[in-house]
Amino acid sequence: MADAILQTHSICKNFGGLAALSSVDIAVKKGSIHAIIGPNGSGKTTFFNVITGFYTPDSGTVEFQGKDITGFPSYKIGRAGISRTFQTLCLFKNMSVHDNVIVGQQRNSKYPLLPNMFPNKKQWALEKERGEKALEYLSFMGLSKERDTQAGSLPYGKQRLVEIARAMALDPEIILLDEPAAGMNPTETTDLVQKVKKLRDEYGITILIIEHHMRVVMSLADEITCLDHGTKIAEGLPAAVAANPKVVEAYLGKFGHKETQRNYNVCLLYTSDAADE
Ligand code: ADP
Ligand code: MG
Repeated sequence: MADAILQTHSICKNFGGLAALSSVDIAVKKGSIHAIIGPNGSGKTTFFNVITGFYTPDSGTVEFQGKDITGFPSYKIGRAGISRTFQTLCLFKNMSVHDNVIVGQQRNSKYPLLPNMFPNKKQWALEKERGEKALEYLSFMGLSKERDTQAGSLPYGKQRLVEIARAMALDPEIILLDEPAAGMNPTETTDLVQKVKKLRDEYGITILIIEHHMRVVMSLADEITCLDHGTKIAEGLPAAVAANPKVVEAYLGKFGHKETQRNYNVCLLYTSDAADE
């Protein structure tokens, strides 16, 4: 696809006898918000881990801005412009919120060990600039007041926002968000939706988002890909994917516990709203 910033081609990843991903293709359009949905265990996080170099695929390729990045180590993928958050929070809990975001700026780190240990004037200026940039990202996330707070002492929802601010600090072209609304209350979730939209609209960052809250997915996504048992079962515009019988079966047929059913019903509600317009 000509306007794709990120593409995967036939990605396969096995864990022993388990096929966590089977021939997964995706094309994420530059400037879009693209959601990945699917029941628990369908391979969504594994897919992010393959894209970001935490896992090497058994076969298939990952292409970013036209370049094959398959098998690159994570730090190189970060420097290339792909940033992420984690399903299980991954903050430096004893460090301040501000320092957690500064750590994320290593993409632009041009100084080797010695100047970092014995900073010269140029190095100090760079440190100052980094600090100010980090404050800008914190302000964007509504966390200015918490800048000096220990990250681990913040409520769960705010820690998730710190992770997004840290992902922004890499100055990325695309951010991969793994269930950013998990553990958030409804007010925090609504606020998150606005922030993710602004992230794309104001910073021009492409977003690939895994999310279980169908309300979040339906109000954010330009396009949705649905995985089930490591296989892509549907892809396209939100309303069409939500109404796809394979998606309905994946969510309700095999994994029809109450919470999923409630989420899915909300999803269908949004779908019918869209259909009425
Ligand atoms: P999702 O994010 O969609 O809930 P995951 O990608 O976390 O699903 O997991 C997909 C499948 O791969 C699950 O069956 C999970 O148990 C398995 N899996 C994920 N990571 C590993 C691992 N490191 N070792 C073994 N199995 C794994
Ligand atoms: Mg997951």
